[in-house]
Amino acid sequence: MAETSHATRQAVLYCPYCAEETLFPLEAGGWECRSCMRAFSVTFLGLSSRGHSGGASGTSRQESA
Ligand SMILES: [Zn+2]
Repeated sequence: MAETSHATRQAVLYCPYCAEETLFPLEAGGWECRSCMRAFSVTFLGLSSRGHSGGASGTSRQESA
């Protein structure tokens, strides 16, 4: 198991607001888009439990109808 100690800083390829690739890292910890002049940061919330169990119960979704 490899520990992801560098998970706090993740590379963002596209701006989530204007979808441009003109992203530059900020010194304060974040990203700056030179196209729409927006500054934002990416926060790692944790691993998603959905779709991480090997797809055992992916197709048989239980509906509440
Ligand atoms: Zn942008």
